[in-house]
Amino acid sequence: MEPKTIKKIGVLTSGGDSPGMNAAIRAAVRAGFYYNLEMYGIYRGYEGMIQNDIKKLDSKNITHVLERGGTFLKSARSLEFKTPEGRKKAYDNLMSHGIDALVVIGGDGSLTGAHLFFKEYGIPSIGLPGTIDNDLSGTDSTIGFDTACNTAIEAIDKIRDTATSHDRLFFVEVMGRDAGFIAINAGIGSAAAAILIPEKKMPIDHLVDKLKIRSKAKKSSNIVIVAEGGKSGGAGEIAGKVKKYLPTYDIKVTILGHLQRGGAPSSFDRLLASKLGVAAVEGLLQGKYDVMAGLINNKVVYTPIKKAIVDDKTVDEEDFRIAKILST
Ligand code: ADP
Repeated sequence: MEPKTIKKIGVLTSGGDSPGMNAAIRAAVRAGFYYNLEMYGIYRGYEGMIQNDIKKLDSKNITHVLERGGTFLKSARSLEFKTPEGRKKAYDNLMSHGIDALVVIGGDGSLTGAHLFFKEYGIPSIGLPGTIDNDLSGTDSTIGFDTACNTAIEAIDKIRDTATSHDRLFFVEVMGRDAGFIAINAGIGSAAAAILIPEKKMPIDHLVDKLKIRSKAKKSSNIVIVAEGGKSGGAGEIAGKVKKYLPTYDIKVTILGHLQRGGAPSSFDRLLASKLGVAAVEGLLQGKYDVMAGLINNKVVYTPIKKAIVDDKTVDEEDFRIAKILST
């Protein structure tokens, strides 16, 4: 598309927060200043756009944010933005500030909103993949995924200490409603006895047989990783079913939950967010609109948002095969 003149860019974070969002905001704002643009923070995602919670940013706003988890622009879910009336309010507020382009950092929902908004109002916009779930196409990794895996592994290591001391069997639930990326990474990285992910159904009797075999072989690993949206149910449900087959086992359940969203971003996520923040602003200046900037084989790639949000990214079969070999 022929680039439009862009002078003022609004940046927002939306939906589920992820570690590295701050680093992405900071990089986009820094890049904007580098190209002599005015940069605006839109607070609380689309909700703040509708309520005109929009402020011009200066370099002080982005000092010491790169290393912090969460998002200083705050995030929110906005039902009103799903309505044409809500989006009209949001558009009018952007116009009142003279904002002529947007950087939207969020997951598939947030990027769906950005796509719709672009179709309706034509404001140049670029999305950045900000989610711990890694469930967006058009990037090898999403911002926050690596940190979330590190956090999960660190927590599982601690659980293993107590599990081993008491010969307990732990079912640890990690995040991942539709995709088992965190589960498979954390499972391989923590030598789990089994990994249950939404993409693959594991019959309970198979799981039980696997646990029995491991027990006979006196394997010390006694952790089963369960993705929250697994086809066989959450960790609690699966633990309940296994208990019926193995009544003598001392079974415990730990749900890692929101702690996986927090914490300082890993070096990988800082770098990813920094590269993509710059790519967002440069893409807008080059006339790349309605796309998501991602990193594939360490190169910036712009993928149409419509394609990036299609739910076809699933755990690599090869990773699944490796996990199977290592837990046998
Ligand atoms: P995430 O971006 O983490 O996937 P959500 O799915 O909750 O999080 O989406 C974040 C926000 O994006 C929603 O609260 C809503 O404001 C906006 N959004 C999501 N889907 C749509 C849609 N179909 N149309 C317009 N806005 C949407």
